[in-house]
Order: sequence, then C-alpha cells, then structure tokens
Amino acid sequence: MMGSAPWRRAGAAFGLGLLAACSDGTASQSAQSETPAAPPASASCDLELFVLGAGQDAGAPQIGNSQDPAWQDPARQLFPVSLGVFDHKADQRYLFDATPQITAQLRAFDVHTGREEKGLHLDGVFITHAHIGHYTGLMFFGREAAGARDLPVYAMPRMSKFLRQNGPWGQLVDLGNIKLRELNDKAGVDLSGTLTVTPYQVPHRDEYSETVGYVIKGANASALFVPDIDSWEDWQVEHGIDIVQLVREVDYAFVDATFFDDNELPGRDMSEIPHPRVTETMALFADAPDDIRQRIHFIHYNHTNPIGDPASAETAQVLDAGFNIARRGNQHCL
Ligand SMILES: [Zn+2]
Ligand SMILES: [Zn+2]
Repeated sequence: MMGSAPWRRAGAAFGLGLLAACSDGTASQSAQSETPAAPPASASCDLELFVLGAGQDAGAPQIGNSQDPAWQDPARQLFPVSLGVFDHKADQRYLFDATPQITAQLRAFDVHTGREEKGLHLDGVFITHAHIGHYTGLMFFGREAAGARDLPVYAMPRMSKFLRQNGPWGQLVDLGNIKLRELNDKAGVDLSGTLTVTPYQVPHRDEYSETVGYVIKGANASALFVPDIDSWEDWQVEHGIDIVQLVREVDYAFVDATFFDDNELPGRDMSEIPHPRVTETMALFADAPDDIRQRIHFIHYNHTNPIGDPASAETAQVLDAGFNIARRGNQHCL
C-alpha cells in the first residue's frame, strides 16, 4: 500500500515551460537541491501525478480586485485546483477537475509529459463537483474549441444528470464531444491495471451535484484528493470516513485549504463559512508521526489565504510544522 522510500518523494518542483507563473515556492521545501528542469522520464516512475493548479475556484488575481498582488507578481498567480495523472506504461493521461484555466493547464501537462503533437491526448477527466472551478473547463471540449470526440468524463450520478440536462453541457453530450461515465460512491474504476480511481462522497454545499474526493492509486503509491469539503467531522458523521485514518492509508493527501484561519475575511462571520481551516487540520494531525504529517499537501487555497504566498509567515508556519503546501508544477510518483 505504501510506497517504498524512492517513491515517497516530497514535492519536486520544476520549470513549467511557457507558464511564467510557476510558483514552485515552498515545494522547494525538500526540492531546493533539485535542478528546476524538466522532470526525468524516470523508469522508476511509471505513473506521475502533476499539480496543475492549487488555488480555489476563482484563482488569483481575483476579478474586481485591482489590489490583488497577483496582478503585479506572476509568482502569486493561482490557477484553480487540478491534477494531471500520466500513466507511462499504458500511455494514458487523465485530468482531475476541469477548470476555467484548462487551456493553460493542459499545455503545462503537455510540456511535463513531452506531448508536443497536436491534440488533447486525454483518456478521461474526473470531476469532483459542479462549482465553477471544478467543471466549467469542460466547455473547451465543445465545438467552439477542441471539438473533442467521445472524451470520457467520469462523474457521480447527480453530476452526470446535471451535465446531461443543462446547457451548454448537454450539448457536449448530445454532440458526442464527451461521453459520461457514471461513478458510484466508493466503487473503484480500474483504468489500466495499475491505475485505479475511487470516488468518496464528501459533505459540501451540493446545489447541483454531489461532491466527491478521489483516491488515485498506482502500483507503488496512492494519493487522496479532497479539494472541497465542509468539515472533517461531518465526513465522519455522515459518511463514516475518518480523515486521520484515511491519510494513514495513502502516501499523499491533497486536502482542502481554502482558508488559513478564522481571521481571514474581515467583517464576515466565518463561523458560517464551512471548509476546515488549515490551522484546524494541522491541529488534527499535531500528534501524528512526522511521516504522516508530510503526506498532507494543502491545496485549493483562496486568494486571501496567506499560504498562497511562498514567502509568508503562515507558509513558514505550515512547513515548520512538517506539512506540505501543494504548488503548481509539483510532481509525484504513484
Ligand atoms: Zn472549489
Ligand atoms: Zn465547491
């Protein structure tokens, strides 16, 4: 279940080709000694996971906010959360979530995986839920853009129904740009014999769809991806899943870090805003062994979250406590 030492690598940062906004930042926590160049097509890394975005749905800079430091500093730009998985042996590529920045993210994925010939070269897209940062990138598979043909889109039943029954998404289905593959809670999908993806339903404000996290399992390691959740406690109560136990069963855990603490949105009563705070998740794992804490990679941070700034005191606080912060450009072996 757990990878042996060579597989258990902390975030390795590397150049992002055309993406000037590579914020490898604190991925350098253990990777500073690594050359920031293209990743080696290592024979020992048959399955690779790439962080294509680590921000909350709207990314940064924020619409309508001229004061956002990301306008001035490309290193502060955030793409909405997305992961890419490349199975070298099966020559298959998958995306987790389709964001409004999918065009640039797919380009970064192409650069990472040396896929220069024209085309999408995607074998499937897994969707977590129907909030704007997680599925609206699907529109680029339609006739106005890529004009994809039968691209498998994996989604839960309610999410699938939402896509089928509402424009413009229904057109993607009707014209055969995408092909919906319905998922069931906790039922793993075997993609290539060595790559398995299992959805886990999580509590979230589900206006249009269920919300899931995924466990992405390769031959040597596995990753949990839970970008959005209301609370760890509700997950336990409503679905019987204990996050502390689950992190013990995976090698990497990319978890909701929308807000750092309750002081982040001045003038708003944050007790009414869900999402486990970064400080709260750190407290949950405070007594866990070092190697468990290291597995946690905070992701999906709001533009207000100070961990978005690799140079902030809060970033240092998280890293000093033994946790990781996911940054666009990170690569891991599964
Ligand atoms: Zn989100
Ligand atoms: Zn959401």
